[in-house]
Amino acid sequence: QAKTAGRNTLRFFDADMQAMLVQRAALEEDMRESMRLSHFLLHYQPQVVGSGRITGAEVLLRWPHPLRGLVPPAEFIPLAEDTNLITALGHWVLETACKTLADWSAQDDMKHLSVSVNVSARQFRQPHFVAEVMSILERTGADPHLLKLELTESLLVEDVEDIVAKMSALKSRGVGFSLDDFGTGYSSLAHLKRLPLDQLKIDQSFVRDILTDPNDLAIGRMVVALADSLGLTVIAEGVELAAQRELLAQIGCDAYQGYLFSRPLPREPFEACCRAARQAVA
Ligand code: C2E
Ligand code: MG
Ligand code: MG
Ligand code: MG
Repeated sequence: QAKTAGRNTLRFFDADMQAMLVQRAALEEDMRESMRLSHFLLHYQPQVVGSGRITGAEVLLRWPHPLRGLVPPAEFIPLAEDTNLITALGHWVLETACKTLADWSAQDDMKHLSVSVNVSARQFRQPHFVAEVMSILERTGADPHLLKLELTESLLVEDVEDIVAKMSALKSRGVGFSLDDFGTGYSSLAHLKRLPLDQLKIDQSFVRDILTDPNDLAIGRMVVALADSLGLTVIAEGVELAAQRELLAQIGCDAYQGYLFSRPLPREPFEACCRAARQAVA
């Protein structure tokens, strides 16, 4: 009896696993097809400083799927990393973002804007990553000083030596670095001080309840203090309320990003949003 139940359970588990693998394989095939057809898109979310001025945009990948609608990155980036599709996808994101940057530099009202690009750990660890970024910058004519790469702490689990070398090489050309989702990973402070970073990004999980949860506020203060002592700026993500922004400003945050200012937008509406914001300030 028990043996039968055990076998049934096992069979059930097998079927489940198999369904999941089939689904992943289908998703992977869909992803390859969408890359071939250039169906991926980039959205741009404003980054705003204390005065309310938009100083740049974070580039966020979007996958419009014929059957599923807009698939959020959380659902396909992990699979893209497992299958190494992230290499080609990440290349496309960087190249497209740099083309945008070059276009903007030719427009008086857009030329000051920076662009932040998310780079996954796997993509950054490729031996040719530095050469790849250099050649994209050259080919597109984008100003390296206006390009910022967002890395996560998951990068720091191995070979910090190599990471520091790559960051330094890019930094010497003017490229900036931000540490994304800061506080959610496991980076040791010893590692942190060795990285040639420019910015820490307070994760939205701490911003969400910062008005009511003293622990989140304490973490916010800690990130700002740490950034100050390392000579870095701080940007908060996921800012949805004016009161959150005010509190973050009070504790010394330099810049903000979130639905309070704008959702991530396709390029044209993003550009319109920047023009409208400038008109409002002028
Ligand atoms: P992330 O880099 O931490 O990006 C912030 C996420 O928060 C984005 O989700 C953004 O749409 C969302 N967000 C922005 N403002 C608010 C807000 O006020 N409230 C809330 N609740 N959410 C807000 P998204 O676009 O779904 O991206 C999720 C993650 O996927 C990103 O997290 C990033 O880790 C990854 N990702 C996105 N694009 C790329 C890419 O081109 N390459 C790589 N490697 N990863 C990417
Ligand atoms: Mg990011
Ligand atoms: Mg983040
Ligand atoms: Mg986050």
